[in-house]
Amino acid sequence: MASANELLRDALILQAVLLQHLQRGHLNRLDALFTTQARQVIRGAFGVGDLAGQTFPAGTGAQVIAEIMGRYGALIGQAKLDMITAAQEAAAAEVAWWNAGAGLPDELVALLPWESVDTSILAGIGELETLGLTPAEWATKTAGDFMRQGNLQLQQAAGLGETMAAAAARIVSLNEKLGRVGAERMARTVFSGATGRVGNEWKRRNADMVSGWVWLATLDDRTCQVCGARDGTRWKTTAGPDIPAHARCRCVREPILKSWRQLGVDIDEIPPDWRSSMDGIKADPINYDGWLRGTSKANQISALGKARWDVWNSMGRPPMRRFVDGDRILSLEDLIGGG
Ligand SMILES: [Zn+2]
Repeated sequence: MASANELLRDALILQAVLLQHLQRGHLNRLDALFTTQARQVIRGAFGVGDLAGQTFPAGTGAQVIAEIMGRYGALIGQAKLDMITAAQEAAAAEVAWWNAGAGLPDELVALLPWESVDTSILAGIGELETLGLTPAEWATKTAGDFMRQGNLQLQQAAGLGETMAAAAARIVSLNEKLGRVGAERMARTVFSGATGRVGNEWKRRNADMVSGWVWLATLDDRTCQVCGARDGTRWKTTAGPDIPAHARCRCVREPILKSWRQLGVDIDEIPPDWRSSMDGIKADPINYDGWLRGTSKANQISALGKARWDVWNSMGRPPMRRFVDGDRILSLEDLIGGG
């Protein structure tokens, strides 16, 4: 039978999909907040129709900028509340999942010394810092980026003497560019922090079942080189770098469970080690390096960028740890020896 660890890995992959659905709900709400609502804000502030053909700074420029920035500011309160709710929902879903046996068959969980996570952990999740920011601070930061960029765009429109319609179009396109990206960055980071906190607590409580953890990166072209280099690395239960490693990080800590016999269950195990990747299920043990070498050239270039791909290829396709120094992705100059 598969090892306890393999069963848990399968279950973690399914859980990640379920969490993504939950996360998408928040992402869509935030996106709507910054994109759709912001568009209405602009329509209101620019007074589409009468003013559209007028030159933007004609008397009303500073006033319109102040108006737009004021309305954006009002959205921050909603975004903060939604991020706190997102962290709480993600953590609650994760607690419920671990406490129901993490998707493992009930009859197996009954044989194991499985300890539940105390729901009191949920009380502090709304204030939990991820990469140094609480959920509310992530919302403030994202909205702040928006407002800075928006202000800049409007100052430019004023400086160039554009029409009101052209200035409005700048803001709409900024929303389209930053809305989804900003929403995704904060939703994913806050989710990762909240679920990671619960997972760590489960590992702490189940230390006699867990021998350590393995860094699991997503095997696709969006994974960064720092996370790619760490994929598959193993750590003691309380050691190792934090996840998320950066904003929008999709990595997870996979607990390494002891063997069935070490866990006190008298069954044999065969290790059908596989990983799910953007190229479909892989039959052999694989990590990011193996995935990258085996995927199409187009995926490789999409993952690394063309210049970096050239260097990687000319170096004989070495493991990603050659391309990073801790949290830092080495520059091309670093890689080709200061040339
Ligand atoms: Zn990552």
